[in-house]
Amino acid sequence: MTTPRIAFDLKPSAQPLSDAERDALLREPGFGRHFTDHMVTVKWTEGRGWHDAQLQPYAPLQIDPANMTLHYAQTIFEGLKAYRQRDGSVATFRPDANARRFQNSARRLGMPTLPEETFVEACDLLVRQDRKWVPSEPEQSLYLRPFMFASEVGLGVKPANEYLFMVIASPAGAYFPRGVKPVSVWLSEEYVRAAPGGMGEAKTGGNYAGSLVAQAEAAEQGCDQVVWLDALERRWIEEMGGMNLCFVRGSGPGATILTPELTGTLLPGITRDSLLAIAQDLGYGVEETRISTDGWREGNADGTLTEVFACGTAAVITPVGQVKSARAEWTVGDGQPGSVTTQLRETLLALQTGEAPDPHGWMHPV
Ligand code: PMP
Repeated sequence: MTTPRIAFDLKPSAQPLSDAERDALLREPGFGRHFTDHMVTVKWTEGRGWHDAQLQPYAPLQIDPANMTLHYAQTIFEGLKAYRQRDGSVATFRPDANARRFQNSARRLGMPTLPEETFVEACDLLVRQDRKWVPSEPEQSLYLRPFMFASEVGLGVKPANEYLFMVIASPAGAYFPRGVKPVSVWLSEEYVRAAPGGMGEAKTGGNYAGSLVAQAEAAEQGCDQVVWLDALERRWIEEMGGMNLCFVRGSGPGATILTPELTGTLLPGITRDSLLAIAQDLGYGVEETRISTDGWREGNADGTLTEVFACGTAAVITPVGQVKSARAEWTVGDGQPGSVTTQLRETLLALQTGEAPDPHGWMHPV
C-alpha cells in the first residue's frame, strides 16, 4: 500500500522582517538565537495519520500544562544545515539521511514515523520561503531543526495519540570565527550518557538533559567538552557531547581513521558517516572499532595515534587538543590541528559549499 503524498498549505507571513533587520541579525548570527520568518507544522492523530501540513509564520505555541511531552519527554529532533553555494544557490546536506535517522528515533520512542519525502519537503519549503536567511559568509549556514513531540493532553504514561512535527530554522555563524581552535575534553567516568538497550542511538531530548551535569563537571575541570565512555566498563570511548570522535593512526597518505563502532549507545552521526567515505576517497584507511581510554593514552604517548577530532553538523570538524580524566592528562600530538584533520575539514566544507565536486550526490538543491 502506498501512502498518499502529504500536501502542504502555504501561509506566508504578512510581516516578515525587513531586509535591513534581517541583514543586521545575519552580521552576528551566533547559534540558535534568531529564527526565520516561518515554520512548518504537520499533525499526526491516531486513526487519521499525518494531516494539516502547513508552512506558516513563526509563532509561539500554546501548551496545555498537562501536555504529555512536558512530563514524559516523548520528543525527538534533528539538526541539518542549508549552505549558500558558490553560485549563489542554496542546498542542504544529506537531508534524506536525517529523515531516516528521525524515523529510527521515532521508532525507539514509540512515535509514528514521518515519510522521508515529507521530512525533506518540509525542510525544502522552509528554506525556499526563508532563502534570504541563508548567510553567505564563509562557514556560515542556516541551521534547520526538525522536531516532533507528543501533543496529547493527559498524565497517563503511554504513547500519545497525537503528535506535532515541526521545522524551524536559525542562521548559524562560523563555529571558529578566529580560526580553528582545538578543544579540551574531560573523560566522564562518573556520569554515563547511554546504556545498552537505552536511547543512546536516538536523538531525543532526555539524552541531552542527562548530559548537562557532566558538561558542568567538564567545565569545572577546565575542559570544553565531555567525552562519554561505555556504561558497563567505563573504558571504551563512545562520543563527545554533541559530536562523534575520530582518531588518526599513523600519518601521511598511509594514515587510517579510526572511529568507535556503532554499538547502539552512540548517535550515528551523518558527518561521521560522510567523513568515513571522504577519508576513503582521499586514500586513507578507515576502521570502525573499539578504542579504550588506556589505548588512547598509550597510542598518544608512543606516537601511533597522531590526531583526534570530533565531527558533527554544528562545527563539521573540531580538533581535540587536550584530554583530562580523574587519573591522567595528556596533550594530543602537539596540541595543534593535525594535517589529516585539516584536510578532511577543508574537503567536507568545500563539498558543502559547492566549491568541490560532490561524488556521492549528498548536496540537495533547494
Ligand atoms: N553525537 C551526538 C550526541 C549529537 O548530538 C550529534 C549531533 N547531531 C552528533 C553525534 C553528530 O551527528 P551529526 O553528524 O549527524 O550532526
